[in-house]
Amino acid sequence: MLEHKINLQVPLEILNTDNQQNISISILRLDKINPLISGNKYFKLKYHLSDAIKKNKNHIVTFGGAFSNHIIATALAANLANLKSTGFISSYDTTINSPTLQKAKALGMQITLIDKSLKQSRANIMQRHDESDFYWINEGGYSELGVLGSKEILDLVNDLSSYTHIISAVGTGTTIAGLLSKASSHQHIIGISSMKGNHTLQQEIFSLLNTSTTPNNLTINHNYHFGGYAQYNSELIQFMNHCWKQYQIPTDFVYTGKALFAAFDLVEKGLITPNSKILFIHTGGLQGNISLPKNLLHFV
Ligand SMILES: *Cc1c(COP(=O)(O)O)cnc(C)c1O
Repeated sequence: MLEHKINLQVPLEILNTDNQQNISISILRLDKINPLISGNKYFKLKYHLSDAIKKNKNHIVTFGGAFSNHIIATALAANLANLKSTGFISSYDTTINSPTLQKAKALGMQITLIDKSLKQSRANIMQRHDESDFYWINEGGYSELGVLGSKEILDLVNDLSSYTHIISAVGTGTTIAGLLSKASSHQHIIGISSMKGNHTLQQEIFSLLNTSTTPNNLTINHNYHFGGYAQYNSELIQFMNHCWKQYQIPTDFVYTGKALFAAFDLVEKGLITPNSKILFIHTGGLQGNISLPKNLLHFV
C-alpha cells in the first residue's frame, strides 16, 4: 500500500576512508526514501498500517517528542493510507509548536500535548484515551511488526553477503533487531546507541526477537552518545559538516551523525579488522536538524 507511494530506489554510496587498512564504508542512503517518512521509519511503520487496516481501525495513535522523526513519519504515512492520526507529544513546554508539529498538523495529524513533568505513564494515557477505532503504535515503532518491516531494509542491498560489518544508529533497538534477524552469522552487527547508558537496550532487543541468548554477532556500543539523547558538541557538528563537504553525505545530529562518527572512529582506532567491508545504514532523520541553531550546519 505505502510501497506504491514511496520511492525505494535508494543508492549505496561507497566512501574512501583514507586508511591503510583497506576498509571500505558503503552507505545505504535510506534518507533518500522520502524527506518525511525517512529512513528506517518507513520500514517500521508499514506493517503497523496494514495491520490497522486489516483490523478495521482507521485512526493511528502514537507518542513522540516535539521534533520526533517517528511523529512526522506517522503523520505522513497515515495520510497516504487515508487513515486519521493523533500524536501524543510529551514536552515540558505545553505550548510548543515546533516546525515538526506544524508539518504533522498540516498532514492532518491531531496533536495533543502532554505535560512531561507530570510523568504520566503511557499505559495510563492509553487507558484514558482509548477509542474503538484507535490503533496504537508504540513510541518509535518498537514492536515485532516494526522488526518485521526492518528486516526488509537489507533486501535493498545486492551483494549483502560480501559485507563483514553492518553499522546503524540505535534508539529503541527495533531496526537493529530487524537487521540482526536478516544478516548472516558471519556478519558483525554494531549498533551505536543514541542514548546515554541505556543498558536495558540489549534486553529489549532480545525481547523483540523472542530470544534469551545473546547472538554473538551483535554489539551495542554505548560510547558515542555525545552527552546523551539529542545532545551535541562542536566535535560532532564539525564532523557532520566535514561529511557534507567531503562526501556530500548529510547526517542528523541525533542518530546518523553520531553513528557515522563512530564508524570512522572505530576504523581509526584499529577496532575493525583490516580488509573489512562495512555497510552503514543511513537511517534518515534529517528533518530533526531543524531544532539546531541556524547556520551551525552547512547543509539543511
Ligand atoms: C528513529 C531513528 C533511529 C532509531 O531506530 P530504532 O529502531 O528505534 O532503534 C535511528 N536513526 C534515525 C535517523 C531515526 O529517526
